[in-house]
Amino acid sequence: MQISDKMVVTIDYTLKDDNGTVLDTSTEGNFAYLHGANNIIPGLENALTGKSAGDEVDVSVSPAEGYGEHNETMIQAVPRDMFDSEQEIQVGMQFHAESPEGEMIVVTVTDVEGNDVTVDGNHPLAGVNLNFGVKIVDIREASEEEIEHGHVHGPGDHHH
Ligand code: ZN
Repeated sequence: MQISDKMVVTIDYTLKDDNGTVLDTSTEGNFAYLHGANNIIPGLENALTGKSAGDEVDVSVSPAEGYGEHNETMIQAVPRDMFDSEQEIQVGMQFHAESPEGEMIVVTVTDVEGNDVTVDGNHPLAGVNLNFGVKIVDIREASEEEIEHGHVHGPGDHHH
């Protein structure tokens, strides 16, 4: 069986940046996704099409095919009173905000100076080359319900 759309694929993966720093890793055999349903980034999904269980694949994904380029215009200084939060605003805190295009995004506080809070709306992995080492553990056909929902249902659990 080869990976194609409407297949549930279980993989083991390690994700590194160009310096070899591990950014993310799956626990063994534990990450399953529905192929062809935009569950994973396009660059990785495309590279896995046609592969079989047991195959090991090294995939390098550019930011354009990953989490996008780092966009300086997504970094903004906003006044402290823009935040509803009663608590002290600290570097590293994350908030939901609306982008200029009206999408909900997560912004991260990167600097606080007096009444000015700097927030960064870039994805933490924006602008990063993503180097995946992937082992394909299992491939099965998705159920009708999984295809309809566009995601994988684990054995016996179904939570949305
Ligand atoms: Zn579902």
